[in-house]
Amino acid sequence: MNQGLGVRGVTVAYGDAAPAVTDASFDVALGEVVALTGPSGCGKSTLLRAISGLEPLTSGSVRWAGEDLAQVPPHKRGFGLMFQDGQLFAHMTVAKNVAYGLSAKQFSKDERQGRVAELLELVGLPDYGGRAVTELSGGERQRVALARSLAPKPRLLLLDEPLSALDRQLRERLAGELATLLRATGTTAILVTHDPYEADTVADRVLQMWAGRLVS
Ligand code: ADP
Repeated sequence: MNQGLGVRGVTVAYGDAAPAVTDASFDVALGEVVALTGPSGCGKSTLLRAISGLEPLTSGSVRWAGEDLAQVPPHKRGFGLMFQDGQLFAHMTVAKNVAYGLSAKQFSKDERQGRVAELLELVGLPDYGGRAVTELSGGERQRVALARSLAPKPRLLLLDEPLSALDRQLRERLAGELATLLRATGTTAILVTHDPYEADTVADRVLQMWAGRLVS
């Protein structure tokens, strides 16, 4: 049995409109990085949100290691999420942002500090812990957002257009860095992107969507 993610016959409709995603099925193996790509509006983000549990399924199932997650709320799925705008907390330092998902219940203060330092090192910002996020460039913000989403060691990382707000040159560089970093950490991930270059650079396997359906 696949120990990772199993998406089976997932359909998602908003209200009475035609479904935004129709009958999507695919697997993601442990340690695999899969890109979902296709034109704007084809249903990529909707499918990603359905996997995260943020969007209810009209039909089908989302499973982890064979277990149906229908009754498991988003925050209990052990999945990490990262978006285009990073969604950092502007009033917190870089270190506090990265530590955000490391609950005091699970980790001692030392462990949290150690993990924050490790992650900032990994994303190439080792000395940035004390900075205000308002002092960061767009690329630095996305690195911090990535560090924050990786810190709790999610069993699946869901990335929704994480580089799309950046200019082309930076996007290409960070796509390469993201590919390396996901491999180095052995992270299982799904990357949503409309950019075929980014999909090819980052992912082991690229799935194409068109008008709500997976076409390859
Ligand atoms: P993509 O990520 O590929 O750009 P989306 O999943 O965002 O595509 O959107 C797929 C379709 O669902 C589009 O037609 C979009 O307008 C519609 N849609 C997305 N989010 C909502 C929503 N919250 N309510 C209603 N329709 C939505």
